[in-house]
Amino acid sequence: MFEKIQVFTPKYRVEECLQEVRECLEIGWTGMGFKTTEIEKQWCKYTGLPHSHFLNSATAALHVAIAMFKHCDKWEDGDEIITTPLTFVSSNHAILYEKLKPVFADIDRHLCLDPVSVEAAITPRTRAVMFVALGGNTGQLKAIAEICKRHKLRLILDAAHMAGSRLDGQDPGLLADVTCYSFQAVKNLPTADSGMVCFQDTKLDEEARKFSWLGINKDTYARSQAGNYKWKYGVEYAGFKYNGSAIMAGLALVGLKYLDEDNTRRREIAAKYDSLLGQVDWIDRVEMASDCVSARHLYQIMIDDRDSMIEHLNKAEIFPGVHYRDNTEYDMYANGAGLCPRAKAASDRLLTLPIHLRLTDADIERVSAAVLSFRS
Ligand SMILES: *Cc1c(COP(=O)(O)O)cnc(C)c1O
Repeated sequence: MFEKIQVFTPKYRVEECLQEVRECLEIGWTGMGFKTTEIEKQWCKYTGLPHSHFLNSATAALHVAIAMFKHCDKWEDGDEIITTPLTFVSSNHAILYEKLKPVFADIDRHLCLDPVSVEAAITPRTRAVMFVALGGNTGQLKAIAEICKRHKLRLILDAAHMAGSRLDGQDPGLLADVTCYSFQAVKNLPTADSGMVCFQDTKLDEEARKFSWLGINKDTYARSQAGNYKWKYGVEYAGFKYNGSAIMAGLALVGLKYLDEDNTRRREIAAKYDSLLGQVDWIDRVEMASDCVSARHLYQIMIDDRDSMIEHLNKAEIFPGVHYRDNTEYDMYANGAGLCPRAKAASDRLLTLPIHLRLTDADIERVSAAVLSFRS
């Protein structure tokens, strides 16, 4: 019997990770500070972004991003954020956390927000656009950034799939007001759970540090340097406990060392699938933006009769994924149902083939052969 091939399986450099964790345990510092400060510094260096704040997830990062803009730009409850239905629910939940309204716009041939559809969705209450670079592909991000500038809207980048993507040779986060990365276990830079929120603005970054640490205006590490008065911190409001830990930061520091190398391998895997499946007339592929070097978090195809294909692959011990179900199919987002026919059509046909660092070339051939055998 064949071995199981999962859509994602994280690969850790175990000895190096254990060394990082050991260091935390030995000195007795496992929470915020120490390695969290180090990963923030290194992430700024890696991306070229001015601020990075390490949190316990990208979901937290997205919430922090929206909360900071709502507070600082004085948005009101019910103000609108234009967003995509083809995403993990975190992107849209984050809008609801702050009592704002997700307004769904349709996707383009890259499966990312379509600029024409975004512009048509703008109303006097629109405050921001939430852009998701699906699979690491930046789609028409530049056109979206231009629309945001023209209409004075904030651009929030859900970069959960995008650690290491490049747009014109730079981190795409440079185009956004805030960028949220995920270092969840199956993402390109795997820890267990953690993420990063990166604001362009210094004031917002400072506010975000308070908000993600219960509203306390000094973090523990800074307090431990503050002599006899370290207990005398101020608490300004009921913030959240969203900070990342030194243990997770240790894993992220190891992952970051290998991120470019790993993404290169992901692109090789994608190229191999392209060469094996690219000429098949019943398989549609997602068009990559020509100015983007994608981190290739996903390799997606679109086919009719997708659900039967999944069953067919499962019989061959291959377990693909679907990214994502059109969010307007969930009751809580049903207010957007019917507004985005392209997202709906894609959602019914999308299939994510296995793509991760443990796949061998033989595995890719086995997956491709199994896909092709569906119709022969
Ligand atoms: C994984 C993911 C998130 C959430 O990331 P977490 O770190 O697990 O909170 C948000 N958006 C997208 C598109 C994702 O894939």
